[in-house]
Amino acid sequence: MTISYEMFAEFIAEETGAPPATVWVICSRCHGEGTLAGWPGAYTEADRAEWSEEDYEAYATFTRPCEKCAGTGKLRELPADSPHAEAWAEWCAEEAADRAVRRAESGYAW
Ligand SMILES: [Zn+2]
Repeated sequence: MTISYEMFAEFIAEETGAPPATVWVICSRCHGEGTLAGWPGAYTEADRAEWSEEDYEAYATFTRPCEKCAGTGKLRELPADSPHAEAWAEWCAEEAADRAVRRAESGYAW
């Protein structure tokens, strides 16, 4: 789950009567591809040692949609000189704090 830019844009639109001006940027996670290879962390070396060549080939060429940009390869971002840049930074910090709380409450430590 990525930081909810859409919610922020709605919030700004309600506050100011207009959504914030944004620019499209290439997704930094998948470099604009929209996909990521494999399933990192899903298999151990021991699992892999038991695979056939075909299994490994399938694994190596498998792609999944990028979770950061939802497979689009691009993201909306506020330009550096946006009047809302500060509000967005605060929004991100609050979301990060919320997530940390949820993680603590769920008992997971990752
Ligand atoms: Zn991406």
